[in-house]
Amino acid sequence: MANEIFLCSICNINSGTCNEDCKFCSQSVRYKANIERYKHKPMERILEEAKAARDNGALGFCLVTADKGLNDKTLKFVCDVARAVMEVAPELRLIACNGTATLEQLLVLKEAGIKAYNHNLETSESFYKEICTTHPWSERYETCQNVNKAGMVLITGGIFGLGETQEDRISMLESLKSLNPTSVPINFYHHNEALELQPNPLTVDEALELIKLTRETLPNAERIMVAGGRELMFGERQEEIFNYGANSIVIGNYLTTAGRVMSKDLEMLQSLHLNVAKKVK
Ligand code: SF4
Repeated sequence: MANEIFLCSICNINSGTCNEDCKFCSQSVRYKANIERYKHKPMERILEEAKAARDNGALGFCLVTADKGLNDKTLKFVCDVARAVMEVAPELRLIACNGTATLEQLLVLKEAGIKAYNHNLETSESFYKEICTTHPWSERYETCQNVNKAGMVLITGGIFGLGETQEDRISMLESLKSLNPTSVPINFYHHNEALELQPNPLTVDEALELIKLTRETLPNAERIMVAGGRELMFGERQEEIFNYGANSIVIGNYLTTAGRVMSKDLEMLQSLHLNVAKKVK
């Protein structure tokens, strides 16, 4: 078991305005899920969230926009937010998660102080067509390659429980491995009644085994992060994720669902004698 856990907090600086049709995503305008939607989160609120994340031990702070990819306006907004966050909480390591991105756009983010870029492959190349028809998996893969070319830290992972087969899961993990990511966020589908997708069928034991499989397939990844769906998937058994290879978690709220109170996670780590990572290697 890892003895240091990396904490990351995510901030949806733009929410629920995406025109794509990813079937697992309540941020798509197509499914009319009952979530908060806005173009730009007010800067004061973003800075409050950044300070709260830092004060609760987060090292990573991820600026997420709900859209297929970056455009000039979003790029400027993300850079403005990054600079403002660095003023109030320079201890945080900034991550951007803004969909498909070109090398040139990534270099602009890097120049603004963003160290890492998160773009998930989500699932296997062949199953992807079942869950999204508006953009191809290959664009996702190319964005991850661009992150590597830009010399930024690559964070890429996926989501389990969408109805994929075990072969799909293995295929996705092999694709992730080929990109040599530093951090691999794995999510567990959190069903929303507005979405057509069936609820996540995984049992807790199966989900724990998937963490283990991720760790085994990507031995060089510095972090295996259990991200969205942790509370719903593991419930009272959340502590076990660290026995199966997870060494990073998202604290606080997710993009459209509430997470645990941050202090509860800190108490859990303390009870397990796990330290909160104070710096990134
Ligand atoms: S592109 Fe991203 S934000 Fe848009 S529907 Fe798909 S997962 Fe959601």
